[in-house]
Amino acid sequence: MTDPNPIDQPDPHHDHSRPSGTTPSGILPGLLKGLATTARTMVRPVHTAEYPDVKPELPPRSRGVIALLAENCTSCMLCARECPDWCIYIDSHKEEIPATTEGGRARQRNVLDRFAIDFSLCMYCGICVEVCPFDALFWSPEYEYAELDIRELTHEMPRLDEWMQTVPAPAPPDPASAPPAEVTAAAKPPRAAPAARPAARVATPTPTPAASAETSSSATPEPDPRPEEGGG
Ligand code: SF4
Ligand code: SF4
Repeated sequence: MTDPNPIDQPDPHHDHSRPSGTTPSGILPGLLKGLATTARTMVRPVHTAEYPDVKPELPPRSRGVIALLAENCTSCMLCARECPDWCIYIDSHKEEIPATTEGGRARQRNVLDRFAIDFSLCMYCGICVEVCPFDALFWSPEYEYAELDIRELTHEMPRLDEWMQTVPAPAPPDPASAPPAEVTAAAKPPRAAPAARPAARVATPTPTPAASAETSSSATPEPDPRPEEGGG
């Protein structure tokens, strides 16, 4: 009796000893296609980057490493708070500045003790550079700071300060853009001195109703115009 399900039956006409695609009729086209690809690639110009013998030309705003201008940093901690990877470490202390005038009040300011970025955690999002309100962080296109020890990827203040030497100058503004607010403010004419005000007049106070009543009661009474009664 034959099997009612022909799907489970092996194909009697299929040669199972030879892998598919290697029949004599399938080898030649595949071989010719491969040779054509090889020939095309041989005549194509090569674009292999010969790094490290030849350094790549990177765009000026490449994100290589973050540089710190410590003089501008006020230890406000904004960058450390906004960093999504928590890889900025800041230590600071307060210092008292004595008053400069007699009777003046002493002021306090933050002094930066430590500023470090762990580049093994940093994901180069640029949020810290964007949020710094005092222009203390900059992108440098330098990228050659790989280390064998991961702990060396935490760059302390002196190293971050060295990167400042590699920060490119800012690009000139777009000619079609509006001038910076500082330039506009500096171009404005100085304000005229305010005109002298006329001498202030002494205003006569308006009497309140209670005061009016009191004033009228203390004044000399008017004679009563009515005749006196019982006088004959
Ligand atoms: S680039 Fe991003 S991840 Fe790196 S330190 Fe700045 S905020 Fe943190
Ligand atoms: S946001 Fe700028 S000023 Fe504030 S701690 Fe960070 S680098 Fe310093």
